Amino acid sequence: MHTSSLKDFDSDIYQSIKKEQQRQEEGLEMIPSENFVSPAVLEALGSVLTNKYSEGYPGKRYYGGCEFIDEVETLAIDRAKQLFGAEHVNVQPLSGAPANVAVYFALLKPGDTVLGMDLSHGGHLTHGHPVTYMAKIYNFVRYKTNAEGLIDLDNLRQMALEHKPKIILVGYSAYSREIEYEKIKAIADEVGAITMADIAHIAGLIAGGQMNNPVPIFDIVTTTTHKTLRGPRGGMIMCKEKFAKDIDKSVFPGFQGGPHENNIAAKAIAFKEALEPEFKEYTKQIKKNIKVLEEELRKRDYKLCFGGSDNHLLLIDVTPKGVSGKEAQIALDKAGITVNKNMIPDDPRSPMDPSGIRLGTPAITTRGMKEEEMKMIATWIDEAIANHGDDAKLAGIKQQVAELTKKFPLYPTLK
Ligand SMILES: *Cc1c(COP(=O)(O)O)cnc(C)c1O
Repeated sequence: MHTSSLKDFDSDIYQSIKKEQQRQEEGLEMIPSENFVSPAVLEALGSVLTNKYSEGYPGKRYYGGCEFIDEVETLAIDRAKQLFGAEHVNVQPLSGAPANVAVYFALLKPGDTVLGMDLSHGGHLTHGHPVTYMAKIYNFVRYKTNAEGLIDLDNLRQMALEHKPKIILVGYSAYSREIEYEKIKAIADEVGAITMADIAHIAGLIAGGQMNNPVPIFDIVTTTTHKTLRGPRGGMIMCKEKFAKDIDKSVFPGFQGGPHENNIAAKAIAFKEALEPEFKEYTKQIKKNIKVLEEELRKRDYKLCFGGSDNHLLLIDVTPKGVSGKEAQIALDKAGITVNKNMIPDDPRSPMDPSGIRLGTPAITTRGMKEEEMKMIATWIDEAIANHGDDAKLAGIKQQVAELTKKFPLYPTLK
């Protein structure tokens, strides 16, 4: 095999990685599903664990030589149980979408009904968007949020009574409020439905004690590990003991092949980090920071969906400011602020050019930014949107952004 460094062997890929690192260092990363992992997590991802096949589960593998892999996966499982108070954990899902698919395969027959939230109200593609294969196999029906931006529990109950779903699904990608798991569990019990929460976005806030934890209440909880939880890209399923066998069989051999143990080691490291007191402080700061942005943007007459934020993100209807979500995203990009265009509830516009933008504080909080920086950022966001199309003005903001990010170096030891 080649023994030369990446830089010497493949300067094309090396240069792209370095340019991406510089982009991350210089910009303000405000996509709410993104974050920055620690050097220890990066180290595990690039470790020799990537060489190993280990189909099966700790103590029950199809391959030899898994004794150290078993140590890694067992640590990941035990730490996740401790972090969320879970009865059973499967750390093998390759990402959030496969975790959800594995749950559907485990619990549903083709044609069975799932009650999830309307996608324009914050649900995820894997919750039955018509473009997914899941929507062809299963019958997805929808509840909505009410005028105050809260989950419409009356509507949810009415839909549950009418459609008798096999699964009631909560947990979202663009929803910014708290979720009342007990009330939803009570409705599910009334119709005999399994409760499933997809906490992909808010897992870190839950682990840090800053949001309600569905794990003790719900039957099944899926998550990613790379959003607020600040671990490697990956997925995880937590469930009650009663569903453990079905879930494990569904992940492997039902759906996936060999687990990615380098990634599972990185998950274990992220869970260890999340168990530390510093992580609680981090998640508190995520929420303080979004509250400052919320106040500052409200002062400037921005239309905030769902009535504001209880978590790490805001969904903003930018059309009253005379721009579409796409135009706002482009203007902010040119100003060095990365957000994403997003549908708002019952959006009259199209998904490729919707009415809103979605932004969040997990990544910039990881860099150490606090209330004072949020005020500066709110000013720049407003200036960028007001001056969309004026590239000179936007470049001026980008300059100021770069100066701020220099004070919060991201990977100072990563050359
Ligand atoms: C991000 C997300 C997913 C999908 O995760 P991937 O790792 O991108 O597959 C699933 N559900 C929700 C609610 C999400 O926000």
